Amino acid sequence: MRRLLIAGNWKMNLDCNGARELALAVCQRAPEFNAVDLLLCPPHVYLNLVSQAVAGSPVAVGGQNMYHEPSGAFTGEVSGAMLADAGATAVILGHSERRHVLGETNADVNRKVIAALQVNLTPIVCVGELLSEREAGRTSEVNRGQIEGSLAELDPEQILQIVIAYEPVWAIGTGKVATPKQAEEVHADLRRLLAERYNQAVADKVRILYGGSMKPGNAGELLQQPNVDGGLIGGASLKADEFLGIAQIGTALENNS
Ligand code: PEP
Repeated sequence: MRRLLIAGNWKMNLDCNGARELALAVCQRAPEFNAVDLLLCPPHVYLNLVSQAVAGSPVAVGGQNMYHEPSGAFTGEVSGAMLADAGATAVILGHSERRHVLGETNADVNRKVIAALQVNLTPIVCVGELLSEREAGRTSEVNRGQIEGSLAELDPEQILQIVIAYEPVWAIGTGKVATPKQAEEVHADLRRLLAERYNQAVADKVRILYGGSMKPGNAGELLQQPNVDGGLIGGASLKADEFLGIAQIGTALENNS
C-alpha cells in the first residue's frame, strides 16, 4: 500500500562534475528499480544540473532545506518556489543537522512545511532523538513532540502530502544503526500518533522513512519492518553502487510482497 521511497541526502558534498556523474549513474540504472521511488537531494546550487541529468528517468529531485517566505530581502535563503523552479518536487525539512547545528526549531520547521505545501513540494520532515534522550527513556516523547510541533496546524489533506523521516541523531553519519526493532518501535509509535491526531486511514497512508547509517548491508532488515517505508540515506547515497544496492533490496522486497 505504501510504496518504498529511497531518498539520497547528499548534504554539503560533491562538485558540479561529481553531482552530474552521480545523478547520471543513478538514473541510468533506475528503470531496474521501478518498484520503489527514487529521490536525490543535492546541494541547492546543483539542483538544476541534477534535474537536467535525471530528466526523462523515474528519478526525482529534492532540496535539502528552504526558507518559509516566498521571496524578498532574505539574503542567502532559497524559497520553495525557487526549488520547484530548479526541478525539485520534494524538500527535506528539519534535518537533525539543521536542528542541532543550525538551531532550527519545530516552529521554524512548521512554517517551512506549510510553505512547501503551498508550492506543491513534498516535505520530508525529519525527527529524531539524541542518544542522551534515548538513554533517559525519552525517545517517544521527543519524537512525538517534534512531530506535534513540526506538523502543527496541518489538516488531514495536508498530512497526506508529507513524508516523515525518523532519524535517530546518534545513528546519523556515525556508522551506528538503529536495530530493526528500535526503528520499528518508533515508526509504529509515530503512526499511532498520526492515527490519534487524524485517523487510522490517514496514518496508514503516510510514509515514514528510516535514516541513520543505512547501507546495503543493513537495509534489508530495516525495510522489512512493517512501518518502515523507505530510507533517507546520507553517506551511502554518495556512491551510486551503495545507493542503488539499497534500491535493489527495496525492489526485491516490493516484488515479493
Ligand atoms: C542523513 O543525513 O539523513 C543520514 C541518514 O545520514 P547517514 O546515512 O550518513 O547516517
